[in-house]
Amino acid sequence: MQSLFRSTLLTWATSSLLATQVHAHARPRGCGPTLERDVVVVGGGSGGTYAAVGIAAQGKSVAVIEIENRLGGNVATYTDPGTNQTTDYGVILYSNTSTARNYFAHLGVPIGPYEGYFPNGSTKYLDYTNGNELPYPVVGNVTAAQEIYLQQMQRYGDLFSAPGYFLPDPVPEDLLLPWGEWLEKYNATAMAYQVFYEQAGNALELPTLYIMKYFSVVTFTTGRLYTVNRGNQIIYNTAYDKLGGAANVLLESHIQRVTRSEQGVELAVKRPCGVQTVRAKKLVIAIRPRHADLAPWLDLRPDEARLTRQFAHINTWTCILNGTGLPLDTGYQLVDPTREAGIPPLPETLGISQSGIADVEARAFWWSTAADITPAKAASLLLRTAYFVQGAQNVSSPAGQRPTVNGLLAHAPYLLHVSSDAVAAGFYRELNGLQGRHSTFWTGSAWESESSEAIWRFTEQIMLPALMASLG
Ligand SMILES: Cc1cc2nc3c(=O)[nH]c(=O)nc-3n(C[C@H](O)[C@H](O)[C@H](O)COP(=O)(O)OP(=O)(O)OC[C@H]3O[C@@H](n4cnc5c(N)ncnc54)[C@H](O)[C@@H]3O)c2cc1C
Repeated sequence: MQSLFRSTLLTWATSSLLATQVHAHARPRGCGPTLERDVVVVGGGSGGTYAAVGIAAQGKSVAVIEIENRLGGNVATYTDPGTNQTTDYGVILYSNTSTARNYFAHLGVPIGPYEGYFPNGSTKYLDYTNGNELPYPVVGNVTAAQEIYLQQMQRYGDLFSAPGYFLPDPVPEDLLLPWGEWLEKYNATAMAYQVFYEQAGNALELPTLYIMKYFSVVTFTTGRLYTVNRGNQIIYNTAYDKLGGAANVLLESHIQRVTRSEQGVELAVKRPCGVQTVRAKKLVIAIRPRHADLAPWLDLRPDEARLTRQFAHINTWTCILNGTGLPLDTGYQLVDPTREAGIPPLPETLGISQSGIADVEARAFWWSTAADITPAKAASLLLRTAYFVQGAQNVSSPAGQRPTVNGLLAHAPYLLHVSSDAVAAGFYRELNGLQGRHSTFWTGSAWESESSEAIWRFTEQIMLPALMASLG
C-alpha cells in the first residue's frame, strides 16, 4: 500500500508552520488562549507519536498531550555519564518493514540492522535455583517447533500478518487455548523459552491469540532495525521537533476532563503554566485504555466502560545494571531445568544483557511480575538477582564498585489482554466498533500487540484512514 510518509512532505511543512504561527501570536497569559486543532492526541508513546506525525503529514493541525516530560512511552535510553554513549533498556528494535523504514526516513533518523547488545557476544543459561550453568534452556528442536508454529499461523489467512484484531467468527478454538496447552497439542514446547524471554510475563497462560499477534508472521519473517546511535529516544526527540515542539506537544500535562459530542471535543488540561482549554474536531486516545486510567477524566459511554473494564495486564520492570564485574560480552538468562519449557516461575528475572556500551558496563535488566509492587521492592529483587549471578559466576565487582540499579522504570500496565471467554464472545468486534464513535479514534498496543512497528502499521492502515475520512 502507498506509504503514509511518501509525497506528503509539502503539506506537512505547511501545517507545521501554520500551527507554529498560531502559537507565536498567542498572548503570554498563563498558558495562552484556547488551543484549537483538527485533532488532539492523548498519549505520546509509540502509537500516539506516530499518529500525530501522520496527521500532520496529511496537512491537519494536531496537538499531543503527554503526561511525562518527553515523548516515547516505553523507550528508555541510558547515556553513560563518562563516554556519552547511549544504549537502550526499554524498546530496542523494530521489524524491518516499509512502514518502519518510511517513518524513520520521514523523521530523518538513521537506522541500521540490529546486531545485538555486544557484537559477537554470548549468553549463559543459569539454573535459577543454584546458578549452575546449563546448555540451551530447552530440550528438543527449536527450529522444528518454530516451523510448526509458522504453519499453524498461516491457517488463519492474514490474521497474523495484517494489523489489528479482526477475528473470524466463531474465533478458532486453538487461538483461545492457553499457549502452554497449544504448545503441548502441537508438540512445539521447544520454542516456549524464546517467546517467554522476549515477550515477558506469563506467556504460557495467555490465550494463544496474544502470542501469535506478538510473535506474528511479520516478526518471524523480517529482519530487525535499530537506530545507529543505539538510543531510541532520538526518534521521539526528532518527532517532537517535527511536530512544532512546545507549540503542539504539551508535555507534563494532566487531563482533568474531556467532553465529547458528535461535533467535537473539549479538554481541560493541567499544564505547568496553568489549566488550558484544548478544542479539536477529533480525539485520538493512544494511552493504554484501562478503565481505571480513563474514568477519572473521560466521559466514558456505557459500552466503552464495559469493554475497558475487562482488560487485565502484567507488570514489567527494567533498569540498567552497572558495577557487577561480569564480562561485558556475556549476558545471563535464568532457567528452570525441571520444566520442559525451561521457564522459571514468576516473579523472576527475564535476563541480564551483555553490556550495551563497549568498554563500560551498562547492562539492560528485565524483570516481570503479575503483582503490583513498589519501586523499592522491585529494585531490591533485581539486585538480589544481580548478586546471585555474580556469586554463581564467582565474579567480584571492580574495586570501589558494587552492583547498582540505575534508571529503574515500571512499564505498567503492560500487555493488556482479556480472557478467552471474552475473546470468544466478540470482545474485539465490539472494541473495533468504538473506532470513530463520539468523535474518538483509538490506537496503541491494546489494538494490536506490544510491537511498535505493528502499532505503526495499525495506525497507518486502520486508524488514520478512518480518522482522515471523518475530517473530510
Ligand atoms: C521493557 C520493554 C521493552 C520493549 N521492547 C520493545 C522492542 O524492542 N520493540 C518493540 O517494538 N516494542 C517493544 N516493547 C513494546 C513497546 O514498547 C510497546 O508495544 C509500545 O510502546 C506500545 O505503544 P503504545 O503507544 O500503545 O503505548 P506507550 O508507548 O506506553 O504510550 C502511552 C503514552 O501515553 C502516556 N500517557 C499515559 N497516560 C496518560 C494520560 N492520562 N495523559 C497523557 N498521556 C498519558 C504515557 O506516558 C506514554 O507516553 C517493549 C516494551 C517494554 C516494556
